[in-house]
Amino acid sequence: MQIFQQYIGGAFSDGSAQFESLDPATGQAWAKMAEASVADVNAAVSAAEDAFFAPEWADMTATARGKLLSRLADLVAENAPRLAEIETRDTGKIIRETSAQIAYVAEYFRYFAGLADKIEGAHLPIDKPDMEVWLRREPVGVIAAIVPWNSQLFLSAVKIGPALAAGCTVVLKASEEAPAPMLEFAKIFDQAGFPKGVLNVITGGPDAGAALTSHQKVDHVAFTGGPETARHIVRNSAENLASTSLELGGKSPFIVFDDADIESAVNAQVSGIFAATGQSCVAGSRLLVQASIKDKFLTRLKEKAEAVVIGLPDDMATEVGPLCTLRQRENAEDLIARSIGAGAKLITGGKAIDRDGFYFPPTILDCSDAPGAPSLSNEFFGPVLSVVTFEDEAEAVRLANDTEFGLASGVFTQSLTRAHRMIRRIRSGIVWVNTYRAVSPIAPFGGHGLSGHGREGGLQAVLDYTKIKTVWLRTSDDPIPDPFVMR
Ligand code: NAD
Repeated sequence: MQIFQQYIGGAFSDGSAQFESLDPATGQAWAKMAEASVADVNAAVSAAEDAFFAPEWADMTATARGKLLSRLADLVAENAPRLAEIETRDTGKIIRETSAQIAYVAEYFRYFAGLADKIEGAHLPIDKPDMEVWLRREPVGVIAAIVPWNSQLFLSAVKIGPALAAGCTVVLKASEEAPAPMLEFAKIFDQAGFPKGVLNVITGGPDAGAALTSHQKVDHVAFTGGPETARHIVRNSAENLASTSLELGGKSPFIVFDDADIESAVNAQVSGIFAATGQSCVAGSRLLVQASIKDKFLTRLKEKAEAVVIGLPDDMATEVGPLCTLRQRENAEDLIARSIGAGAKLITGGKAIDRDGFYFPPTILDCSDAPGAPSLSNEFFGPVLSVVTFEDEAEAVRLANDTEFGLASGVFTQSLTRAHRMIRRIRSGIVWVNTYRAVSPIAPFGGHGLSGHGREGGLQAVLDYTKIKTVWLRTSDDPIPDPFVMR
């Protein structure tokens, strides 16, 4: 069995305890992971704090920080095949997707590397004589980064990249469900030449997470995961008053008008809900289709869903692999049963596949006559699509916004004017028009409502890891006059 170690203060260790990680394609243990105790969490935060103040990092020029991030980008690109193989093994995400995604993660580090020495302060035209006032942008401090098990190299890069570009230091806690890719990433990071303790990588469950996010030396918590866990994180941050950024779940509407290019929209919907076995926060899990094209659209979608190649995740031909955990499969089965009970009709799929591992097939539920079906409001984090119809644009907007989430949305129409109206009216952090699931380091990513707050990606992401210091410098050589009058 392979062993993965934690990375604290530039050293690898087994941790106080270990746990086994399961291969979702077989349901069997395949590797042992170091499990961080509270003492390990404390050691990781101390290492990050020491590194934050150490001259090797604190006095390093921004340009030099950028060069180290660039080196890290090169190393990630070189090691992408190995990282992809490990992510596929530990999470069950298909190799076709992990190899493309991890190669692209290198571009995220490259983007943030370029931004490191573009973080500018400002000079203020102050309303007083003999005074110079300017703003310095300084790193926030020690960052606690918490990630889930899906797309974790990507979700870590959008935290580690901007945080290090800004001069912060980081303790990253990988998910206890499948931490191998992040522990492997630590080995690659170690070769890039950063001072010790600038990044620390640990894993463990809610206990380690709670110790980290409430730690007195943590200044900011960057979290990706579910809304329930986010509530714990916010409560934990009451202990240290750390700021938080929360990237949470979604129930994103995928809206198809009758003038859309049907074949293209069907392909985008397949990608939006069945790619990554539906385990994507931006999954287009609510199909809103105009009533006049419902039958045509669903016939084509069903054909495509049933033709999807289900198989082992490490086979390049596989299109849908297993879910990461047994819990997700059970959750899908439960939600589907309750939705059928509420009047939803099963169009395809719906039952766990009878083979080893945590497999679940592409599933479509017609909820047109079941507006209260729980599948319309709950995130599955699996390959399950819920369908409703609309008559006109106003109803499409009302249904799209009928959710507590607000992460992503898709609009399919050939009408430019309608596309613009929909863009304005949909309440979500991302709107894709005639495309879906496109991402880039250059484009901010984040949501509203139960989908969280804060944006990852783009220039603002680096500024979010800085705080402003206001500097006042008196330029007069005269003694300070009346000490009892505020200047
Ligand atoms: P989760 O919320 O169960 O776990 C996320 C992380 O939080 C894990 O590392 C976990 O160990 C940690 N954690 C658990 N309890 C904690 C506590 N009390 N204090 C601190 N940390 C704690 O999420 P999951 O099931 O691993 O991932 C799926 C969820 O993540 C879905 O809701 C999905 O939509 C969301 N997600 C969001 C995005 C996004 O960018 N918006 C991206 C991917 C996934």
